Amino acid sequence: MNPILIVEDEKDIVDLVEYHLRQAGFSVMSAFDGSSGLEQARRKRPALVILDLMLPGMDGKDVCRSLKSNPLTRLIPVLMLTARAEEADRIIGLEIGAEDYVTKPFSPRELVLRVKAILRMREIDRESEKSLQIGDLLIDIEGHHVSVKKMPIQLTSTEFKLLVELASKRGRVQTRTSLLDRVWGYTYEGYDRTVDAHIRHLREKLGDLGKYIETLRGVGYRFRAENE
Ligand code: CA
Repeated sequence: MNPILIVEDEKDIVDLVEYHLRQAGFSVMSAFDGSSGLEQARRKRPALVILDLMLPGMDGKDVCRSLKSNPLTRLIPVLMLTARAEEADRIIGLEIGAEDYVTKPFSPRELVLRVKAILRMREIDRESEKSLQIGDLLIDIEGHHVSVKKMPIQLTSTEFKLLVELASKRGRVQTRTSLLDRVWGYTYEGYDRTVDAHIRHLREKLGDLGKYIETLRGVGYRFRAENE
């Protein structure tokens, strides 16, 4: 997963949040003012932004509005930090568009739980997508149809399921066992060779875009995230 971006001018808070997020297994990057936070979000497309409301220069509200109005960053979830609970409605409402907020002083553990909850919801949204457009690849999940550069690709139903499974969890490593479980629904002796063979066929059929499916030796497979 891409790192989580913390935008906050108070170094102590950044350190505290960073420590707890790292403990929870996330990678983290930080920015100490609004405009550099915005720039990092555009360049590195974090999995989530933790954004303080009170920042020097460009404040958290404006950063959030800019993120939400740019197609490149629109889908990045934003968790606002605010000292005032009464701001909450406007923060998560239409005015600013953040996904959630936490009021200061906050418990870092609770913050980590909120981050996880937002990311989980995002994952569910993604899994329920009806079609996936990834660069030149279009996967019409409902219509069971795949095309590359608008040219249709013929896949078997297992290859199709495998592609959807990988592409809907792009950026994340999936083991052979989990693929087998989700795509085939069972496991058996020599199963890893079955997965490998289907991956190979899938890559061949995808042509140039086959490179999106990466092999992680001894671990499994991973569909590259869009921004890699
Ligand atoms: Ca601040």
